[in-house]
Amino acid sequence: MTARPERIVVVGASLAGLAAAHRLRERGFAGSLTLVGDEPHLPYDRPPLSKQVLRGLCTADTTLPRHPDLRAEFRLGRPATRLDPAARTVELGDGSRLPYDRLLIATGTRARPWPASEEAALAGVFTLRGRDDARRLGARLQAKPRRVVLVGGGFIGFEVASTCRDLRLPVTLLVRDAVPLAAALGPRLGGLVGEVAREKGVDLRLKTEIERMEAEGDRLAAVTLKDGERIETDCLVAAIGTLRNVEWLDGSGLEADAKGLRCDAFCRALLRDGSVAAGVFAAGDVARWPNPHDDDALVAVEHWGNARAQAETVADNMLAGDASAMRRHDHLPDFWSQQFGLTIKLVGLTEGADAFAVMHGSLEERRLVVAFGRDGRTIAAASIDSARWLPAYKAAIRERAPFPPIGDALDQTRIRVQDP
Ligand SMILES: Cc1cc2nc3c(=O)[nH]c(=O)nc-3n(C[C@H](O)[C@H](O)[C@H](O)COP(=O)(O)OP(=O)(O)OC[C@H]3O[C@@H](n4cnc5c(N)ncnc54)[C@H](O)[C@@H]3O)c2cc1C
Repeated sequence: MTARPERIVVVGASLAGLAAAHRLRERGFAGSLTLVGDEPHLPYDRPPLSKQVLRGLCTADTTLPRHPDLRAEFRLGRPATRLDPAARTVELGDGSRLPYDRLLIATGTRARPWPASEEAALAGVFTLRGRDDARRLGARLQAKPRRVVLVGGGFIGFEVASTCRDLRLPVTLLVRDAVPLAAALGPRLGGLVGEVAREKGVDLRLKTEIERMEAEGDRLAAVTLKDGERIETDCLVAAIGTLRNVEWLDGSGLEADAKGLRCDAFCRALLRDGSVAAGVFAAGDVARWPNPHDDDALVAVEHWGNARAQAETVADNMLAGDASAMRRHDHLPDFWSQQFGLTIKLVGLTEGADAFAVMHGSLEERRLVVAFGRDGRTIAAASIDSARWLPAYKAAIRERAPFPPIGDALDQTRIRVQDP
């Protein structure tokens, strides 16, 4: 790798791309910096889209603040279509070619489209990923649809359901699994959030799927569930997960697939033969990296905090010269969500948890901190309306503390270890 890069190209002009650009300038990079984005907008923030924007509390213009001295060229509204790692060039949709000394791939994810394309095209059927989606859906919600049907038992589905209830809209939330949010929070906390959603008026249906949609002209009119029930609705939001934006890398030789773009501990993108693609890095939702907090198991997360932290690791490593001066990406995944008046925070990853303990508060109070264990080790902690103690658990997870991380909590007589 050239010791001093002169041209840095970032593909994906969003949170990770902008965070990397800021860090590069902060660290004294004085060369040319180009950010390529397929959306027509300057980098903006997504978390407010499902929260404040849909509620009508702010406009969909959630543009992220930019450093006044960023000196970056934004090529917006055109996608990168091809990468040639040997020639070190990125080709854009308009046919232009951008040479680079260092390249950051930060192309994130997109909403998984509703699988039946004729149904997806009906007026009244929405997905939510970008600010234009939020503007359109927000306008529809403000116009008071008869009933909103939400499909998907993840955070976006629950946040949109919560917003709809704040707007006093009737909501049916269809979840395929037996417990909502279980993949991230485990069944007990997921179940608790589901209970709160029901109390707030959400018609929550578990183990339920849509068989088909019905239209009147080109507008959605009703859905029929797999059990035959028909629900009239003129507004449906499909919150059924995401797809990683890696197709433009086809033919580049990079190891990229539906699970993400594979990189090494320093966030350098890897080729299919396992070698490093010279000068190419990845960060944010698109990246898949060895997680030092889980014995280097490959992980890809869709978390705001990781996108920023990983972008900063990449910027530092782009300027480091060679691998001996690079630092590994050791961010501990963390996430937050706000819904139904609850603030939920998570540190670490609960995947594979085999033990659970309430450390502070209680499930009944709905104000608590819980810890998750696996193979006798503390791997994650979550809080509901009680984040004060989370930093201590973050430290315990980083230190690979035994589970439970403390024997006696401050407000529990005895920590009781249970199934998650
Ligand atoms: C509605 C919503 C609410 C969220 N709420 C939370 C929350 O409460 N807490 C939390 O931790 N996280 C939340 N997230 C997740 C968080 O926003 C993401 O983790 C973060 O945006 C990831 O940033 P990124 O830069 O990696 O990717 P993205 O933000 O996905 O940006 C990637 C950019 O690259 C562009 N792109 C893709 N392909 C190309 C191409 N070929 N050429 C050029 N450009 C391309 C995309 O269009 C996009 O603009 C939320 C996400 C959404 C959608």
